[in-house]
This record gives sequence, structure tokens and C-alpha cells, in this order.
Amino acid sequence: MSLTDSLGRKHDYLRISLTDRCNLRCLYCMPHNDMQFMPPSRLMSANEIQKLAEIFVEHGVRKIRLTGGEPLMRKDVGSILQNLSTLKVKLAITTNGYFLGQYFDTFEKVGLTSINLSLDTLRKDRFEVLSQRKGFDQTWQNIEEAIRRGFYVKLNMVVMKDRNEDEINNFVELTRHMPIHVRFIEFMPFAENRWDFSQTVSYAAILNRIEQTHSFARIEDAANDTARNFRVNNAPGTFAVISSVTNPFCDTCNRIRLTADGKIKNCLFAQNETDLLTILRNGGDVERLIKENIAAKHAARGGLPEFSADNAPKVFSKNRSMISIGG
Ligand code: SAM
Ligand code: SF4
Repeated sequence: MSLTDSLGRKHDYLRISLTDRCNLRCLYCMPHNDMQFMPPSRLMSANEIQKLAEIFVEHGVRKIRLTGGEPLMRKDVGSILQNLSTLKVKLAITTNGYFLGQYFDTFEKVGLTSINLSLDTLRKDRFEVLSQRKGFDQTWQNIEEAIRRGFYVKLNMVVMKDRNEDEINNFVELTRHMPIHVRFIEFMPFAENRWDFSQTVSYAAILNRIEQTHSFARIEDAANDTARNFRVNNAPGTFAVISSVTNPFCDTCNRIRLTADGKIKNCLFAQNETDLLTILRNGGDVERLIKENIAAKHAARGGLPEFSADNAPKVFSKNRSMISIGG
């Protein structure tokens, strides 16, 4: 039986956050006030993750992505992946890439072939400003190694006005020489990330900047893709824009999120969460709660109004921070 909402959207893609901790402090993600991390007892254990994942897979989930926080900070990520690889799902991960070098062998063993990497600048000095930590060289070496080993690598860049928009074309340039899939993401509002509409660089502005330097064509998007995809003529790589702010992709949404403390969120912006972990620990009916949560999904943006300079951050700050949702 599939997890279908009242609008007929079938949910077959689950993103599981393993932790809200991270080795970086990206300006657009990590709360600017003192972040209170979840105590370990509140996090799903490897066994609990597996039990919940099995229920989702029984109900039609066909793809599972691990995320966070930084998922590779979980010491048991290897056994979590090993367990999940026994289910009939495609496995993927989103990571900042810093610890990736230690995990290539594990990924190959469990059949994880697709890695989303987040990197917002190709400049070492700027990396330290945007992420408030050192680590550019190690991250970049890991990205090159991932490509060398044949992983399908998507490179996520959150574009922020006056912070890194001047590097958009350098990222496009990468696609002309490497089989890499760059995705420019519009900066979104979450709790305590000091979002301001004027700092979001829109889909139109991103494409406009690229048009001035490169000649490129629109290419086909995958089903349920949240990005619009393009390719510079004859390039081995591609680029895409994810316009979650100026034109969200709610109509074809097939995603479910499970936070590191075991709460299901049917939308990145959903303000209602259902606590599956407590119910699992108490031996309750998790399946019923999952179905009810998906059935109650709003048509767009978790039922919140459109993003605008007037309503955010008042409206969107009621949500969790991105780092505690799992992107
Ligand atoms: N630590 C991992 C990483 O950075 O890839 C996984 C978690 S991170 C929350 C997942 C994705 O969310 C990253 O690609 C990150 O750039 C994106 N993200 C975080 N905050 C965002 C924001 N305010 N707007 C747009 N994307 C954001
Ligand atoms: Fe950490 Fe990823 Fe958030 Fe950056 S975007 S602070 S790497 S969780």
C-alpha cells in the first residue's frame, strides 16, 4: 500500500536525518543563537532507524537518503547503511564532504552510488567565512576522489547575495571539465538563520548571470525532480537551479522527512510533526500515524503563505532550523 496524500501525491522517497550535529557552521543553516543539540538518548538508534525504515519500505518507499546535520558524524553510519542495504531501496546521502574520504569503501560495499555534496565556494578563504570552520582542501580532495571513483556527484551551492553569487559561473565552469552536477539553491528561511528576502538570489537572476558567460541548453528533468536542469554545450557535467523560494515544486512532491529524533515531517516547512520514535519505543501503532501524517499534507509549503519580504522571518521562524530538520 502506498503513502498517498489527499491530492494523490505518492510518497516514495524518505530522507532520514541521523544527527543535528555538524562539524561546520554554515551561515544559512546553523542557528545563530546558541544551538541546543539533541541529547543522544533522544536520537533514533541504528535499530530504531531500521525498524522505521522497514515500515516505510513496506508502504512503498523506494529511495532513502541519509542527511543531517552532518550524517558522517554518526559513528555508526556504516552499520546503518549496511542494515538499510538489505531493504529494496536506492540509497543516497547528502554530506558536506569533510569526512567522506573514510567512507568510500563502505559506500561501494553497500551499493550507495549517488552523493550530494554541499560546497558554497571554490575559494578557501571564503569557505572559512561561510562555514565558519576550516576544511576546504580536505573537502575538495574528497570531491575529486568521489568523481575519480565513479560516484554520481551532485554539488549543492546555496547562492547568497553579496556572499558567493559572483562564483556562479566558476561552478558552471566545473561542469565543462568534470562529470559533476552542480545545483544552485535559492536561500530559504528557517528558524534563526537570519533569512532576508533580499539575500535570496532568484532562479531568474542565477540564469541571467550564467547567460552572460555560457551558452547552454535546457535538458530533461527526472521525475519528481525539484530542479530545472541545463547543460553547457557538449559538457560532461550539468547544472540546475532549485527555486524553492520563487517557484517551489510542491505539485510533484514525493518526499517524507524523518528527523534525527524520530519525528515525521511531510514537508520541509511543515509545522506539524508526528513523533514516531516515542510510539515505536512504547510499542504503539506507527503505521497508522505515518498514514495520517501523509494524508494531512498541505498542498504547498506546509500550508504557509508564499515567501515574501513581509511575512518572513515571522512565519518561517516557527519551523525548526534546517540543521535539525535534515535537508
Ligand atoms: N551537512 C550536510 C550537507 O551540508 O550537505 C547535510 C545536511 S544540510 C542541512 C542539507 C542541504 O541543505 C545542504 O545542501 C545545504 O546547503 C542545504 N541548506 C541548508 N540550509 C539552507 C537554506 N537556508 N536554504 C537553502 N538550502 C539550505
Ligand atoms: Fe552543517 Fe550541512 Fe548545515 Fe552546513 S549545511 S551547517 S554542513 S548541516
